[in-house]
Amino acid sequence: MAVLDQISSQEAMALENKYGAQNYHPLPVVLSRGKGVFVWDVEGKKYYDFLSAYSSLNQGHGHPKIVNALIEQAQQLSLTSRAFYNDMLGRYEKFTTSYFGFDKLLPINTGAEAVETAIKLCRKWAYEVKGIDQNKAEIIVCKNNFHGRTTTIISFSSDPVARKNFGPYTQGFIKIDYDDLEALEAALKSSPNVAGFLVEPIQGEAGVYVPSDDYLVKAKALCEKYNVLFIADEVQTGIARTGRLLATCGNCSCPNKDCSGTPDVKPDILVLGKALSGGLYPVSAVLANNEIMNVIRPGNHGSTFGGNPVAAAVATAALEVVRDERLAENAERLGEIFRKAMNDYLKTSSIVKLVRGKGLLNAIVINDDEDSEMAWDICLRLRDNGLLAKPTHGNIIRFAPPLVMTEEQLKDCLGIITKTLREFEE
Ligand SMILES: *Cc1c(COP(=O)(O)O)cnc(C)c1O
Repeated sequence: MAVLDQISSQEAMALENKYGAQNYHPLPVVLSRGKGVFVWDVEGKKYYDFLSAYSSLNQGHGHPKIVNALIEQAQQLSLTSRAFYNDMLGRYEKFTTSYFGFDKLLPINTGAEAVETAIKLCRKWAYEVKGIDQNKAEIIVCKNNFHGRTTTIISFSSDPVARKNFGPYTQGFIKIDYDDLEALEAALKSSPNVAGFLVEPIQGEAGVYVPSDDYLVKAKALCEKYNVLFIADEVQTGIARTGRLLATCGNCSCPNKDCSGTPDVKPDILVLGKALSGGLYPVSAVLANNEIMNVIRPGNHGSTFGGNPVAAAVATAALEVVRDERLAENAERLGEIFRKAMNDYLKTSSIVKLVRGKGLLNAIVINDDEDSEMAWDICLRLRDNGLLAKPTHGNIIRFAPPLVMTEEQLKDCLGIITKTLREFEE
C-alpha cells in the first residue's frame, strides 16, 4: 500500500473518523511501527508504550521469536477449521495444559469469546454434573466487572454506556460487590442453583482494583464449600502481567519458580486471552480439568478460527518467551520499583491521590472527580513527552508497559511520568 505509506497523522485520524464506526475514543496519536517497549508514529516520533494494548503485548512489540512462528506457520498452513485435525493444535494443547497445570484446553480467538465459552461450560456442568434443574443455573459476577462486549457479557456489566439500548439482556447472573466475601457467601447461600463465580483477580478496566490479600483464596474456599465453579478471568492479569504467571497462581506447578509465598488459588475454569499470543494475533483459551471440560461434546461449541495452526504456533512461541525471558520475575521486580517511585512522588503531590497495582499492572488515581478532564489532559501531555497511556475510568490512569522493559528504561519512564505530573501541580 505505497500510497498509504505517506499518510500523515491528521489524514489517518480523519479517515477513521469518516469511514469507521465511532465505537472508540482513541488518544490522538497514529502509530505505524513497534519494537520491544517502543512505538513510533507516522511522523517518526518515538514513544514508550505504557498500555501494551491492554496487557496484550507483555512480550513486547514484534518479538522476533513470535513473529517468526507466525511467518513460518502462515507459509505452511493457516487454517483447516476443526472439520479436520491439524498437526499444530494437539502439540499446543499439550504444551499449554502442562504449562498451566490443567487437563484440557478449549481454543478460541478473543477474550470475550473465551468468557462466553467459560459461561457455557459452567452452565452445562451445572445441569449434567451438579444436577441443577434445566434453565435455572445462575452465575455470580462482580459489580464493575469487565469481561468483554458480547450481548450476554454486557447483560451483567455495570457500565451504563456498555449496556444502554442493547437489551433484552441474558438472564442468570447475580451481581455482588467485588472484594466482599460476605456478599459472596450470601449469594452462594441464596439459591441452590448457583453454578459458578466469575471473577477478575484484579479488576483491570474498572481502574486496577486489587482485592484484599486473602480474597481469592477465601472466595475459592467458599466456592468449594457450595460446590460452585471458581472461574478466573485472567485475560488481562494472566501471562506474567502481575509478577506471577497467573494472578491466581501461588505454589502451583507452573514454570515460574518464584511463586512461593503467595497462596495458590487454582481456578476450576481459567480464561486466557490477550498476551497468550503476545499481541500478535487473536488467541484465547479456556482451561479446565476433565470432570468439567468433558461435558463439552462434538457440536456443542466451536469457532471456525479457534485452534487454527497459526494461533497454535504463535501462542506456543509467546508462552515460551514468557518462560525463557523470565517475564513474571521482571514484572514483579520492576513493579516494586514503579510503585515505590510513584509513592515517593505522591507524598508531595496535590494531584495524585494514590498508586495501586501488582507487578506491571498499575494505576494512579488523580485527585479529581470522575467527570474531570485532568486524567485525559495528563495522557495528552505524557504523549507529548514520549509515553503513551490512557485513562480507564475518568480520573484513573493505567500503566501497563511491556514486561520486556529494562530497569533503565523504566527509570527513564518514571522520569517522564513525574516530570509530566509536575506540569499539572499548582
Ligand atoms: C480485554 C478483556 C476481555 C475481553 O477480551 P477481548 O479480546 O477484547 O474480547 C475479557 N476480560 C478481561 C478481564 C479483559 O481485560
